[in-house]
Amino acid sequence: MVKTLKPETIAAQAGGAVDEATGALVPPIHTATTYIRDPDNQYRRGFAYSRPDNPVTRQAEDVLCRLEAGSACLMSGSGMAGATTAFLALEQSAHVVAPKVMYWALKKWLAEDAPALGIRATFVDTTNLDAIAAAVRPGETRLVWIETPANPTWDIADIRGAARIAHAAGAMLAVDSTIATPVLTQPLQLGADVVMHSATKYLNGHSDVIGGALVFARRDAYFERAARMRSMLGAVLGPFEASLLIRGMRTLHLRVRHQSATALTLAQHFASNPRILGVLYPGLDADKGYQTAVGQMTGGFGGMLSIRIRAGEEAAVRTAANVKLWKRATSLGGVESLIEHRASVEGPGTLCPPDLLRLSAGLEDAGDLIDDLEQALGSNG
Ligand SMILES: *Cc1c(COP(=O)(O)O)cnc(C)c1O
Repeated sequence: MVKTLKPETIAAQAGGAVDEATGALVPPIHTATTYIRDPDNQYRRGFAYSRPDNPVTRQAEDVLCRLEAGSACLMSGSGMAGATTAFLALEQSAHVVAPKVMYWALKKWLAEDAPALGIRATFVDTTNLDAIAAAVRPGETRLVWIETPANPTWDIADIRGAARIAHAAGAMLAVDSTIATPVLTQPLQLGADVVMHSATKYLNGHSDVIGGALVFARRDAYFERAARMRSMLGAVLGPFEASLLIRGMRTLHLRVRHQSATALTLAQHFASNPRILGVLYPGLDADKGYQTAVGQMTGGFGGMLSIRIRAGEEAAVRTAANVKLWKRATSLGGVESLIEHRASVEGPGTLCPPDLLRLSAGLEDAGDLIDDLEQALGSNG
């Protein structure tokens, strides 16, 4: 019966659980750090101490696990905690393949911090399957990591193709699906072994929780090592955040579909603006990722797009300075639209074009957003 429910139904009812003690439809926030033992020294209810796990987080995990059609889910105190756990749970001295263009902080960790922990990353253009195939080392590569659509150019990686290559080399495929969300893409259904989310973004959707998640295709030894790593590092999501996240996920489908529609409207509108050198959005049929995106995304192409300002970096920074409605801030996936000059955020060594402005479409009226960005572009002279 449960298997046939549509994702919208699961999300709206937060998995359908009703609090047994009170009948409450909204789960209580259990703040306990410790739990009572049974008189015969057992912990039959499954909780002993709140560093490895807590009941509110478990309910959030249940919802996301079902939305991704996974076998197990581990939520963490941030997306980075989830992502680093996915690498740290690999067998010793692992080789991994990761994208050249990906979430900046994770790339920095892989390049600068992970080698001391025995993790050796090769960075390639993961939109090119031949490049992935050339980088994997059969028997040595443990994980291929892709991000799709990828920050901040929204490049699309072919999940099915990457899974085939990873598996042929004896490696797993992990997908950072933060931007796509389970509403638009379900990587496990396309062959991925693990999905990572920054729950900070669309899953929560209200810019008031830092959280992350890993969803696993199998409850296997790799999952067990990741669960152990989360417990040992103390990286679990706290109960207050889990409660907010459960609330946020109830409206996930409505938000993501609306934000995707708005992003497409913005992309189409600004594609012909002479002040703009190019719009980066996988939902534009001229975009290089469009065909692959159509093959693996359903119901939209995401709420993120970037625009490149023809007059260059200074004009881009000035455009961001001139908006009145858009909020000048980093992060994404919230109900309020955000704009940022991405190269300033990423700093030295970034591959991000200096003329690029990253846009996160919120839930405001698309016309209001267009008007404000038009006036900001126009006031550049
Ligand atoms: C934000 C983000 C992360 C990191 O998540 P945090 O919750 O900030 O730790 C990872 N990947 C992508 C695509 C992101 O947007």
